[in-house]
Amino acid sequence: MATRIIVVDDDPLVGELSSSLLRDAGYEVELINDSFKALDIIKTQPPAVAILDILMPGLDGLTLCHRIKSDPATKNVQVAMVSGKAFHADRKRALDYGAALFIEKPYNVDTFAKQVGELIAGQAPPPPALTAEARLGPQPQGTADAKLHMTIWGCRSLSPFKGGEPSRYGRQTACVSLETASDILIFDAGSGIVPLGREIIKNGRFRNLWLFLTHFDQDHIEGLANFAPAYATGYKLNISGANDPDQALQDRIQRIFEAAPPELGALQTELQLFEMREETYEVLPGVQVSPFFANHPGTTLGFIIEHGGRRFVYCPDSEIYGEQGTAMQDYDERLGRLVQDADVLIHDGRYLDSDYQTRKNNGHSSWANALHLAARSGVKHLILFHHDDAYPDAVLDRIAADAQEIVAQKGYKLKVSMAREALKIGI
Ligand SMILES: [Zn+2]
Repeated sequence: MATRIIVVDDDPLVGELSSSLLRDAGYEVELINDSFKALDIIKTQPPAVAILDILMPGLDGLTLCHRIKSDPATKNVQVAMVSGKAFHADRKRALDYGAALFIEKPYNVDTFAKQVGELIAGQAPPPPALTAEARLGPQPQGTADAKLHMTIWGCRSLSPFKGGEPSRYGRQTACVSLETASDILIFDAGSGIVPLGREIIKNGRFRNLWLFLTHFDQDHIEGLANFAPAYATGYKLNISGANDPDQALQDRIQRIFEAAPPELGALQTELQLFEMREETYEVLPGVQVSPFFANHPGTTLGFIIEHGGRRFVYCPDSEIYGEQGTAMQDYDERLGRLVQDADVLIHDGRYLDSDYQTRKNNGHSSWANALHLAARSGVKHLILFHHDDAYPDAVLDRIAADAQEIVAQKGYKLKVSMAREALKIGI
């Protein structure tokens, strides 16, 4: 039986073109020009794929995509968005909402059916929002007596779709979760927090959520307005961060939620804000959080978490000077003391050495500088984080291999890993 595809487009010309290309490729195609009607049909008889135009009267394509992917009855329908309105924001939202493919109009008639075919065959490179196969809960990879369970939901710099190409390391921006036996701590709200939000709702284990923001650069907050638990009832969201001298934490957070897509509805969560300084806070029983200022433009924090005798440090945006630091620049020494003996250190390792030479004083480190500092400080496991969006997988693979070589050459005792979406570690 031919695979069934539904094309939803209010423009008869484009709709007919899409349909005939797919029919020629052997699919059973239904063209629908009304998005409300399409939703009914998709619900009663889910197709393999729904191809949606973004700009449609009534229910627009993004909202339709959101409805399809958030309804358990239809969430397995693969959604491809087709649009001439290819702003990054739309593309990002489409993928955040669960679309598996985004095709710009005018599309290439030679490859259109092939792209859809790959999607059906599961060969299409999974888009960023779907690469994170992360799940909450204890993981088999962890040590048996782990007290903390870490999951990476995003580890890239800048907007996740700027580079375009799918990546095994993922394209989502900064977000890491850390679970104790009873609670969840979330670090940063880059686009990776969007799939995490969906997982929190699905999983249902956590109601009292703690979010720690290092700073307010886009790649650390761009997912917050789309964090699903904020719009669901029964959740408490505690957001901690630093007060910037020229902007209060409260104003920042308020602005983020004011800019949220209206279709998400009103905020439902009980929201509580905590301004943090360089002190130690017991945020939950037995969970100590010690923020510290990191070397990055603006007010930027790193976080040390201590729980059950384990020490975890999250410091995604931080420039280590390395051997070229001057006597006046004592940040490396200070950071070395802060991360001393950490079980896991997630640290900025954004640049290749060669690129770092031309990007000094931007607030990011070369991976090699991060590795040397971690090794000197007795860190047990370093996770290189904040991969440059311009680096393809081949470059990141090479960094991983070179890092292992340095560890072997120098006789370092630490383990070093590259951050990637869905990476889970028991600590
Ligand atoms: Zn950043």
